[in-house]
Amino acid sequence: MTANSQQYDSQHPSHDPDRIPVEEFVPAEVSEIDLYQKREKIYTRKIEGFFQRLRTLTGWPLLAGYFLLPWLQWGDRQSVLFDLPARQFHILGFTFWPQDLTMLAWLLIIAAFTLFAVTNFAGRVWCGFTCPQTVWTSIFMWIEQKTEGSRNQRIKLDAAPWSTHKALKKLLKHSMWLSVAFYTGFTFVGYFTPIKELSFDFFTFNVNPWAAFWIGFFTLATYGNAGWLREQVCMYMCPYARFQAAMFDPDTLIISYDRKRGEKRGSRKRNDKSEDVGLGDCIDCQLCVQVCPTGIDIRDGLQYQCIGCALCIDACNSVMSKMNYPKNLISYTTENALDGKPSKILRPRLLGYFLVVLVMCSLLGYRIAARETIELSVLRDRQSLYMQSQIGDIDNHYTIKVANKTQQAHHYKLSVDAPHDLTLIGSVEFQVLSGEVVEIPITLRSAAEQELHGAFEIHFMAQRLDDSDDIVSHKSRFFAPVE
Ligand code: SF4
Ligand code: SF4
Repeated sequence: MTANSQQYDSQHPSHDPDRIPVEEFVPAEVSEIDLYQKREKIYTRKIEGFFQRLRTLTGWPLLAGYFLLPWLQWGDRQSVLFDLPARQFHILGFTFWPQDLTMLAWLLIIAAFTLFAVTNFAGRVWCGFTCPQTVWTSIFMWIEQKTEGSRNQRIKLDAAPWSTHKALKKLLKHSMWLSVAFYTGFTFVGYFTPIKELSFDFFTFNVNPWAAFWIGFFTLATYGNAGWLREQVCMYMCPYARFQAAMFDPDTLIISYDRKRGEKRGSRKRNDKSEDVGLGDCIDCQLCVQVCPTGIDIRDGLQYQCIGCALCIDACNSVMSKMNYPKNLISYTTENALDGKPSKILRPRLLGYFLVVLVMCSLLGYRIAARETIELSVLRDRQSLYMQSQIGDIDNHYTIKVANKTQQAHHYKLSVDAPHDLTLIGSVEFQVLSGEVVEIPITLRSAAEQELHGAFEIHFMAQRLDDSDDIVSHKSRFFAPVE
């Protein structure tokens, strides 16, 4: 596409010869912009420093949690298992059923408002320190550095013609990337299928085709996202990156270059004082650009591509130390501080976000604590309202379902509360294993001498035998012949 693609037609009948020729409005140099430019590969430089250590400290527990959790047992089952066929989510000591989905919605609201609060306070720390895309990309970059060497070595390797040496390095890197990607995909599927069985089935080639498909899918997704796409996921694919600017205010922490102190930038000898050489503190070494995973220059100001990883702070601080200049030419600061105004930590919007999180957490905690541990449902026989025997007894048939939502097996007793004498016929006492549902056919009988007529409300009750307070009831109806 060219900038002057809408050409002015001087031969057109509507052309007014008195008007200034349109060519005069066209800039002397017309540049061509390719909207589908090829991505320029970013070769990041390794950097050590406070924020890099912090990233390691936040990344490792997350990785360890992700990879280890499905292998840990909680009682007699996997500590975290989203059992979709049984429609049960087991999370540590809790089992969530489809009826508990409202709690999942609350949990998502809490997560969203926590993210809003953190973003309003500290900018994109989620993106820079804990986002899985960032954490996995860091692992892949670490592998790249170990297999192909430093930034300069990698640039040289890519520019060199293909050789056995180059092919072996690339093969090693991609094999390691694929191993990490496979283990990531395998673990992810292990959250939905018992992971020990999955391992056994996988390595004995008996794995369920759907499980194999999803392992392959997540392996390729991880390999593609963390190995190849990297910063492009953040820049073009992540929706959160797009709307989080709405949560920023002038007191939000941002990573910024101190232009007043840094300019005019320029190279100089080590230990030269800035004022002696008539320059600012930026020595224009480009280190902050070389460490940036998205390849931007923070000295150009706050940009949407900046994921807030703070590596440029580490890079610049290392340079400032070598030059014996004060640190924090690039630092966490706020828009207000940059304008010389005081920054406020506690502000209405931030307090509002925290208040919502607090209220939602309290409600969720109460909801979990007050959750019923027995689920009782009653289905009436659809074939007939009632049956009357030759001696005049009236029977109503029901199917009772009792679900045990606790982590242990329990014995339960079924009873009925009705305004007339009704006899329960069927298994009145039974055991339900943890997380199981039992279905019991039950008959309610009214003896002939009661001579009941019409319909009336009854309540079935299921009570735990070892805890009489654990009781639930379910409303139903009993039908007798109309008078
Ligand atoms: S500009 Fe700095 S904080 Fe932003 S992404 Fe680049 S290195 Fe990270
Ligand atoms: S690392 Fe610091 S001194 Fe070097 S170019 Fe970046 S801002 Fe300037």
